[in-house]
Amino acid sequence: MSKIKGILFDLDNTLIDFMKMKRMACSEAASAMIGAGLKMEFETLEKELFGFYLNYGIEGDYPFTDFLKKHNAYTDAILASAINAYHRVKSAFLEPYPGVIPMFVKLIKQGIKLGIVTDAPSLKAHQRIDAMKLHGFFDVVVTEAKKPDSQGFLKAVEKFGLKPQEVMMVGDWPEKDMVGAKKAGLIACFAKYGHSVGVETATEPDHTIHKIEELLEIL
Ligand SMILES: [Mg+2]
Repeated sequence: MSKIKGILFDLDNTLIDFMKMKRMACSEAASAMIGAGLKMEFETLEKELFGFYLNYGIEGDYPFTDFLKKHNAYTDAILASAINAYHRVKSAFLEPYPGVIPMFVKLIKQGIKLGIVTDAPSLKAHQRIDAMKLHGFFDVVVTEAKKPDSQGFLKAVEKFGLKPQEVMMVGDWPEKDMVGAKKAGLIACFAKYGHSVGVETATEPDHTIHKIEELLEIL
């Protein structure tokens, strides 16, 4: 009998393939900007725009405005086409990784509590959870957690009504998710499939999964 009674998940790149969605949305925005009159070569623009976007901070509201101003190419028409293209793709591709929902159903049937601990701003995190139709699965959603700070993890554990050692944290970002989980006394499970930032060797996780289905082998 497993001692794991609750599982907390990071959101971006653990449940959602966030980077892929952002890359596709930027690519569509680049194409729309050219269509609206921006004089740049597509490959260059696509690459620069995505790089700018990542540096700007992926939760920022005005990356396209600043990008166009930097290139002395700002017009409302170009900005409008970019924003609309971006949002079109974003809502079409905001999906959980394959296997997430069936896995949640199985976990809940086993009596395991599920929750989210994310650094994302509250409204944006809830928009993503809602768009993926995941909101019904969670007993707790902690946003703006400032991981690896222990506070967010412990708040979620308390809402579960469990002890830290009965809860596993699943996340893709070693320095935030794994270091934070260990610091708070949780079981740490590295979501290697989503790993895109950070140093993998930041800490030794208790478990590593290569797809979400592997969670069942841990329980
Ligand atoms: Mg993440």
